[in-house]
Amino acid sequence: MKCGKPIDSFEKEYCSDCERSPHWYEEGRAALLYEKGARRAIDRLKFYNRREYVPFFGRCLEKLAGEYFPRWKPDCLVPVPMHRKKKAERGYDQAALLARELGRRTGGEGYSAYGGSDR
Ligand SMILES: [Zn+2]
Repeated sequence: MKCGKPIDSFEKEYCSDCERSPHWYEEGRAALLYEKGARRAIDRLKFYNRREYVPFFGRCLEKLAGEYFPRWKPDCLVPVPMHRKKKAERGYDQAALLARELGRRTGGEGYSAYGGSDR
């Protein structure tokens, strides 16, 4: 397992995406599958200014962090950068908001959120 997506066969080690193209990271996980209700909620956070969803996603990420951070021991949390023009159009950077929320929830254990201005 590389990216964390479910694999449909016990005989496979990687999902079809990972088999098709290599990833630059060593290991990844996702708090939610990007489908159905989770996809709609993520899209609302990203495209419809539903920033009140950040604590919910923060709880999901915190649960995942509880499982993996003890082994990964991250030094910091870095949100995927958003293009300056897109951020100006949207008015906020949802990845930075989520990184800050996760950092707040897992803080005091050596991690910190980086995100610059995320308003
Ligand atoms: Zn994969």
